[in-house]
Amino acid sequence: MKKIKPNLNKLNIQEFNSIIIGSGAAGLNCALHLIMEGIPSDKVAIVTENLGGGTSFNAGSDKQTYYKMSIYGDQSDSPYELAKDLYRGGAMHGDIALIEATNSIREFFHLVQLGVPFPHDKYGGFVGYKTDNDPRQRATSIGPLTSQEMGKCLLKAIEEKNIKIFDKYYALKIIVDDTTEKPKIVGLICIKIDDLSKEKNIENLLDSLAVFKVKNLILAIGGPAVLYKNSVYPKSQKGTTSLAIKAGCKLQNLTESQFGLASIKFRWNVSGSYQQVIPRYFSVDESENEIEFLYDIFPSFKELSKAIFLKGYQWPFNATKIENYGSSLIDLAVYHELEVFNRRVFLDYTKNPKNFNFNKLHQVAKDYLINSKALGDTPIKRLRKLNKQAILIYKKHNIDLSSELLEIAVCNQHLNGGVSCNGWWEATTVKNLFAIGEINGNHGIQRPGGAALNAGQVGGLRASQKIAHLYNSYQLINHKNFQNKVKNEIVNLIHEFAIVLENSPSDSEKSLTTNKLLDQIQYRMSKYGGIIRPLKGLEAEILAIQDQLNKINKLITLKFNTEIIEYLRVKDALLTQLFFLKAILNYHLSFGSSRGSYLVLRNKLNDSLSEKYIIPPDNLKEYKFIYNNLNLSNKIQTIQLKNGRIIIEWDAVRDIPSKYGCFENTWKKFLKKEVFD
Ligand SMILES: Cc1cc2nc3c(=O)[nH]c(=O)nc-3n(C[C@H](O)[C@H](O)[C@H](O)COP(=O)(O)OP(=O)(O)OC[C@H]3O[C@@H](n4cnc5c(N)ncnc54)[C@H](O)[C@@H]3O)c2cc1C
Repeated sequence: MKKIKPNLNKLNIQEFNSIIIGSGAAGLNCALHLIMEGIPSDKVAIVTENLGGGTSFNAGSDKQTYYKMSIYGDQSDSPYELAKDLYRGGAMHGDIALIEATNSIREFFHLVQLGVPFPHDKYGGFVGYKTDNDPRQRATSIGPLTSQEMGKCLLKAIEEKNIKIFDKYYALKIIVDDTTEKPKIVGLICIKIDDLSKEKNIENLLDSLAVFKVKNLILAIGGPAVLYKNSVYPKSQKGTTSLAIKAGCKLQNLTESQFGLASIKFRWNVSGSYQQVIPRYFSVDESENEIEFLYDIFPSFKELSKAIFLKGYQWPFNATKIENYGSSLIDLAVYHELEVFNRRVFLDYTKNPKNFNFNKLHQVAKDYLINSKALGDTPIKRLRKLNKQAILIYKKHNIDLSSELLEIAVCNQHLNGGVSCNGWWEATTVKNLFAIGEINGNHGIQRPGGAALNAGQVGGLRASQKIAHLYNSYQLINHKNFQNKVKNEIVNLIHEFAIVLENSPSDSEKSLTTNKLLDQIQYRMSKYGGIIRPLKGLEAEILAIQDQLNKINKLITLKFNTEIIEYLRVKDALLTQLFFLKAILNYHLSFGSSRGSYLVLRNKLNDSLSEKYIIPPDNLKEYKFIYNNLNLSNKIQTIQLKNGRIIIEWDAVRDIPSKYGCFENTWKKFLKKEVFD
């Protein structure tokens, strides 16, 4: 097909100092900080595909956690102590851990100031509790919807500041100037989703584009939520990790996703109270034959009750919690019922597990239920006493736990990795491009529950400080150069869209709908990138992905312009999947051990690393997984698209800084803005 030469004279190019892509808790907070740091509000804009969509506004759990330094009563804590606990999760840089820790209180009080009702006592003390991977009591919560309330309070403040929000804009291409020593951000191309017409029309496609010329771009696009079939991300979150990949960002820790048990009809984590009241787990086959499958795996009701109870605190699947009948054995058993036996798995709050006897409960569960006055002869009665809100949230979504069964699966929940950034949350390989919130890759292998929300807020503060103090004064790119760059990008985009729209189902027997291709992507992720990670077959799968990517515009058939967005989404998912599976393959070939939220399966042991198999009990023994003495947690795996090649490297983890300045010197540096370097 000949390249189309669209008439670009009509293009309306808008200019801003900073554009934030994404309107979750991270993006909204960053917009506010930019204004607080001195950028005029008409120079800042938010571009979002769906205001009110995304994870922050739509996800939660029985008690959604916000993690911060402890500031309560006589509890001793310090930024350094908190940094050590973040850093201990492995594969996390120490300076980043210290920054997240040091700024946690500032950001926490910013939210309090905006009206997020974090509970305090009569002395004004913000009491905390202990969450997973937390040795102290640093966690706080306002209930099931902490991030949603954060989002609402932040949005209200944004509206008061009159910051422009471009809603229903899908960001599809970041424009980078690569003629400078380090590639640099100059603009962004979006599609105005609502302007796409229900026809095949190139003029309309062109009219639907919006072009922005910017000094700074902040990615706050959240996690790659469409990758897995079993997912507890809200359906309104999709993610667009390929935006960062194609802009030349280095990404890191893509092997480190979190998985855990969640309900699937209404996507919700079944953590905390949902487990502490000891519900009945069972599975059914097609003929509705029911079995309480956990009894085949756990040796006694006592052991089982301990594991179910601990699952409340230890929600993410964890490779170290399989042995000795640990709580993650439950996730593995659920996975096996679903993936191998093709059975459906349910939680039942109306009946006790078989052989239930309160006196035979494990002591840890019994003490907790007695101390919390959560006694009752069924799980629902105990839940009603322990945490009424946990029942109400399901009721609000038309599920009555007092009479209905809750279908569950092992679900993808969070990506700890993402864009590699420095201490200002600026991408290490692209100047003026920042990545905050879940798209940022600062977390390590494990993190305390609630650290994601803290990091998202701290990231917005840091990015805005850098922008306001160092990236505010210089000129935008020369208009002619910018127009030429945009022209090239748009000609290529329109050419690609024209090809996809021209395909018709009869062109090729192999033509796919976007939904069918997404099914294939999700199937692959479950097989190679979920809690079970076999090496066998992975290389062939990567070749298949590369092949699909090379000819995607010929593979997909679309009926109307409106379907272009789905085409872009599935293309994004395919490229993101390629990066994930390449990272996982490299991890296997580097003899990575089972860790974090996954088990690695390989047919051969490497004796020089004292590799050994750990064999789960009974019918789960096919998941014999590898452990070895190779310590990869002091390194961070990075992956980048460079000159058309995918480069994977391992960087040494940086230590937590241990030298601090004295007041007078810091003051001088602060006045000279040297602290922002
Ligand atoms: C079930 C569940 C429970 C959780 N519990 C906790 C917890 O207890 N504690 C904790 O710390 N964390 C928790 N998390 C994680 C935490 O909620 C998320 O990491 C966080 O909310 C992400 O915020 P964000 O602003 O980065 O992204 P999001 O809130 O997901 O926002 C992303 C935004 O980007 C927009 N966007 C994406 N792509 C584009 C594009 N191409 N163009 C335009 N707009 C785009 C989306 O529409 C959305 O507005 C949980 C997550 C889940 C799923």
